[in-house]
Amino acid sequence: APVVVAIDGPSGSGKSTVSRAVASRLGLSFLDTGAMYRAMTWWMLANEIDVDDADAVATACTKPVIVSGTDAAGPTITVDGQDVSAPIRGPEVTSRVSAVAAVPEVRARLVELQRTSAVAAERGIVAEGRDMGTVVFPDATVKIFLTASEEARSARRAAELRAKGVDEATIAAMAADLGRRDAADSSRKTAPLTRAADATAVDTSDMTLEQVIDHVVDLVQA
Ligand code: C5P
Repeated sequence: APVVVAIDGPSGSGKSTVSRAVASRLGLSFLDTGAMYRAMTWWMLANEIDVDDADAVATACTKPVIVSGTDAAGPTITVDGQDVSAPIRGPEVTSRVSAVAAVPEVRARLVELQRTSAVAAERGIVAEGRDMGTVVFPDATVKIFLTASEEARSARRAAELRAKGVDEATIAAMAADLGRRDAADSSRKTAPLTRAADATAVDTSDMTLEQVIDHVVDLVQA
């Protein structure tokens, strides 16, 4: 069976960068499931759906066609054919994505797409998110739960945003949002962020990116 590497953890744990690098190094596909929840949220906002109205979100969520390209060298995400890779990273989507991701109908739809992507990946896939090891791929070949101290996580996020030229006021707002988002993701009823019983926990607080990547590659190859 093709390899499935399930990587979960809170925001700022280094998940996305590490997962993509591990996929590149091992020649596997890469799936950023957070981007799918963000794309769904972007569509809800663009269509003026009240994201705090779970019934409205549940009814609307079957409408957008969300496609994520799984090439680790250049992952893509489109909604109804439109490239949304930039707007899904903005503060509007980031501050509302947890509400949309808490709606069970949204999760059911995206989980199905995620499993389809994994089946389509010829050599295997590195899938990252919040519920890869617990819900989406319970039989994954390797499960990893990345953690980092809150300080390390917000410092990393800030550095990432600063490198992209984001202004300091937005960085501060997004840092405040990070704690709120992790609390919401960890306490929701459907598929809360939690370590799968059989996942290996890796605390990345005092590791460099390169060290984390090497360590995860070792776990996959073990
Ligand atoms: O990983 P990222 O920060 O892009 O994820 C954005 C949001 O999408 C998370 O805060 C969470 O609410 C949701 N998410 C989720 N399940 C996943 C991936 C992301 O609920 N597997």
